[in-house]
Amino acid sequence: MSDTERAFLQTFMAQRVLTNLEAKTCLEKLRRIEKESFEITDEDTNIEKVIVSVNKSIDEFGLTIVKSRDETQPDLFHYSLVNKLGNEMSQSATTLSANELDFFKILLDQMFTGRQHKPDKDQFWIPFSGLLECSQIQGRRYEEKRNEGQFTVDEDGRKVASVYQKPLKVSEYKALIEKLRQESWIIFQGSDDSRRILPSPRLLAELRPYLTERYSQPAAEEPANGHNYLRNCVACRSIFTRGKQCSTPGCPTRLHISCEDAFYRQHQSNTCPACNSDLKDSAITV
Ligand SMILES: [Zn+2]
Ligand SMILES: [Zn+2]
Repeated sequence: MSDTERAFLQTFMAQRVLTNLEAKTCLEKLRRIEKESFEITDEDTNIEKVIVSVNKSIDEFGLTIVKSRDETQPDLFHYSLVNKLGNEMSQSATTLSANELDFFKILLDQMFTGRQHKPDKDQFWIPFSGLLECSQIQGRRYEEKRNEGQFTVDEDGRKVASVYQKPLKVSEYKALIEKLRQESWIIFQGSDDSRRILPSPRLLAELRPYLTERYSQPAAEEPANGHNYLRNCVACRSIFTRGKQCSTPGCPTRLHISCEDAFYRQHQSNTCPACNSDLKDSAITV
């Protein structure tokens, strides 16, 4: 790895996710330092080439930089530095304590399958007020474990939660949410009372195995009414959380806004490949 590539990787270590524009700007800056010149060629800022080289070096640490297209803006891409063991959340979210990780998992459950979701309408976000419910769920689970006697007694005779961690206090889960945002696991949208918590490109890229295993529709099951299932975009096969949802009830077709035009062109039609209804007329999931 060259010095420039190493510095580029350090930027990723600090920020976790860069857009294609941010990555290009960063690389330009580093090349200017390297060459001590303002003459920067396109070849100098070939992000893909640098990432191939960086990925070779970080592979042995179980890390990789992945590129994903934004779900709504066609020319926007996200490069995320991810841990390749995304089916083990504890391997990825290494900065979290056990009870923070537990809260994070409840947050994901609420975000991907929560009860605020309407029948036949995908929704992959929760309002800020939904955090209270996450906290209540964690509290209930803790009580259940305690009632089952899953405690041990320490040397001073105090009851210690051996199996289950203590639920987070309000100030603690508020701090956790801010930490998750800073580490690019979640994004905030809107302001004040209407603020929402959404999954981030890093979350979808890094935890894809975990999310797919946990939130996809089980093969043998009929879709339950009002149940959110995680599906992939029919065009790019990446996880879908925002975009077009086929208007036929129960139809599994989902299509990113950023993939829409290319998909219609390629298929020379605007119809759903599963049920033939017009996708252009379908509602947009936000
Ligand atoms: Zn897509
Ligand atoms: Zn359809």
